[in-house]
Amino acid sequence: MSYIEPAPIKDSENPFESMMSRFEMASNTLGLDEEIYNVLKTPAKQVVVSLPITMDDGSIRVFEGYRVIHSNILGPSKGGVRFDMAVNLDEVKALAAWMTWKCAVVDIPYGGAKGGVKCNPREMSPGEIERLVRAYTLSMIEIFGPDRDIPAPDMGSGPREMAWMMDEFSRAQGTTTNAVVTGKPLVLGGSLGRVEATGRGVMVSALAAMEKLQINPYQATCAVQGFGNVGSYAALLLEERGLKVTAISDISGAYYNKEGINIADAIRYRDSHDGRLEGFEQAESIPQEDLLTLEVDVLVPAAMEDVINVENAEKIKAKLIVEGANGPTSAKADAIINKNGIMVAPDILANAGGVTVSYFEWVQNRLGYKWTGERVNRRSDRIMKDAFEKVYQTSLEYKVPMRISAYIVAIDKVAKTYKWRGGF
Ligand code: NAD
Repeated sequence: MSYIEPAPIKDSENPFESMMSRFEMASNTLGLDEEIYNVLKTPAKQVVVSLPITMDDGSIRVFEGYRVIHSNILGPSKGGVRFDMAVNLDEVKALAAWMTWKCAVVDIPYGGAKGGVKCNPREMSPGEIERLVRAYTLSMIEIFGPDRDIPAPDMGSGPREMAWMMDEFSRAQGTTTNAVVTGKPLVLGGSLGRVEATGRGVMVSALAAMEKLQINPYQATCAVQGFGNVGSYAALLLEERGLKVTAISDISGAYYNKEGINIADAIRYRDSHDGRLEGFEQAESIPQEDLLTLEVDVLVPAAMEDVINVENAEKIKAKLIVEGANGPTSAKADAIINKNGIMVAPDILANAGGVTVSYFEWVQNRLGYKWTGERVNRRSDRIMKDAFEKVYQTSLEYKVPMRISAYIVAIDKVAKTYKWRGGF
């Protein structure tokens, strides 16, 4: 279609360009109406607030906060709030759209949103952070709500910040409203299974893909980049399902053992060494970049964006890449990976286990009931498997790689909903 100009593909994209280049490819393949394309490429709402905070030394500092709702036609919008110096409106807009596609791929009734506050939480006291979180929440009182827009943790925020958000929102409403945020501590209505949910979804996606590729998990090897929440649970659960995890890495370095690394030991080591693998003795230390190009069946990038790029894509030997991180593969590297016949379970599918269990947290809060961990896992595994199958079948139908078919599934759902509901 003439109205969609293919985005120039380059390696050092910002998240917005990276998301848009895939969105445009999928829209072209799908033959999306121009009107709908125009609706989906722009966020529904963008809010920028200024937050004056009294610091511990008595001075007043003004912070900038953002909330972008990309789409709320599938349901209340959902997305984390990032506390980081690099936060800016463009990035928040891209991440909000990403959430729309992610929720639509796994077919949960949410739209997409993202928030952020430009600050450096590592240089702030707990009291300063608490005042900032509460001020941000109050400034968004008209935006947030269990039926409107539901924040969650992201970079620089966690259960503690979610507890303050829930409390501030509840105070303003005059009633305890725990369904307004997810990622809360268990005692405030957090869900069992949330901590490991993203890694678990990575495992389920990997096994579903291996079945298609006819790779026997008990004869397969795997390398995992990043050993934080997503990477360590993905490694542990893949090992449990029979894979030999021969390499893991974190910011301190990469570690290789061709006989397989005992992941429970590695987690224990990390937890007793300031959260890092540095000095882990059950494996030999290898250069960071070598992990991505090892002779393994499955590669799980679970650290950060753009790590698979034009520099190394040609050297990747894995048959399957399962993206635990958001945006680990650049658009330019996509082309090389596709040419070499490597299957990719893309981020908006493979790491959607986290948002799925966040949805379960919200469902439980609204039911006023608590599910067992077993029920949470069973239901999220089902959702992840179904989503994988749908993306896989769509990739066969349109003869496109899995990344583009994931966007097709998502865009198609949002576009159809939009058509049924109608505009002004
Ligand atoms: P985390 O902070 O718990 O862990 C990140 C890990 O990556 C750490 O082990 C860190 O040392 C390592 N790392 C950082 N830079 C590295 C480098 N250059 N080389 C190797 N390792 C490096 O973060 P997380 O929650 O596990 O998130 C990881 C990725 O997954 C991010 O892209 C995040 O956006 C994405 N993600 C997370 C969730 C979730 O539920 N936590 C959900 C969806 C997507």
